[in-house]
Amino acid sequence: MRFWLFLLICLAGVLAPVELARRRAAADPPPPAEPPPPKTCPGNADWPGVTPTVRLEPRPGGYGGIQYRRTPLPPRTIALTFDDGPDPRGSPAALRILEARCLKATFFYVGYYVSLRPDLVQDAIRQGHGVASHSWSHPTQLRYWSLPAARAEVDHGFLALRSAAAGVGPVEPFFRFPGLNDSPAIRAWLSDQGITAISAEAGTDDWRGISSQAIYQRTLAYMEQEGGGVLILHETRPNMIAVLPQLLDELNRRGFRFVRISANEGQPPPGPVSARVAGGGAQPRGEGAAGAGGTALNR
Ligand SMILES: [Zn+2]
Repeated sequence: MRFWLFLLICLAGVLAPVELARRRAAADPPPPAEPPPPKTCPGNADWPGVTPTVRLEPRPGGYGGIQYRRTPLPPRTIALTFDDGPDPRGSPAALRILEARCLKATFFYVGYYVSLRPDLVQDAIRQGHGVASHSWSHPTQLRYWSLPAARAEVDHGFLALRSAAAGVGPVEPFFRFPGLNDSPAIRAWLSDQGITAISAEAGTDDWRGISSQAIYQRTLAYMEQEGGGVLILHETRPNMIAVLPQLLDELNRRGFRFVRISANEGQPPPGPVSARVAGGGAQPRGEGAAGAGGTALNR
């Protein structure tokens, strides 16, 4: 009898919390469903409400029809990419222009400038943009560097970017060669680190110092010719920022759609990081230093 009493007490002790949890679960309302994304951009009904993401698989040969395989985007689809920032004037302006159109882009940052203004990188991440590396000091002749020196330069750029992004969001495992001047050896090493070289289907020629009108006309012509693709812009170029709203609105009016390229979302790029964040690095220069007769970034 005493045994049965003991068993009964034990059973009650086990079952009571289960029953309590069951009743509590039944009493709790189900979590609210995710609201569907808006069909159009709030406050700007000419634009879709979201920018879809196109995932790019790691690819040793890189992406971008200028020099690699064409980026696999749907026809007449554009992925906006901004190089050479962060820039204290241009980056906030670019973010405002994109946000007003519910557009997401990818920013290829120069590590030295990242170390000066990590807050601008964080702003971009918080607004849902992708951030990737454009080296530490923007050496447009990186292809001629020794492999150890090139590795240190790339590592340094990623370290600066990861430091800025730490606790805020992921860094894309994408690298854009300054001036698009790559070398097979560096690209192979990047691939070993899980990093994909991203070129483009077209640029806007904004780094050449041309007028806003020329940027507008050339970009529309390039995008029509290529049927969209990854597009390079520079938020460091005031003439680009000045024409960016008009340019985006015209591309949208012509039926181009926009996506954000991404890889391994939520994962920082793997690979060794050996360089220091602060100190050292040469002063970065803009695309113009690529030997095409342009000028250094004017800050
Ligand atoms: Zn650049």
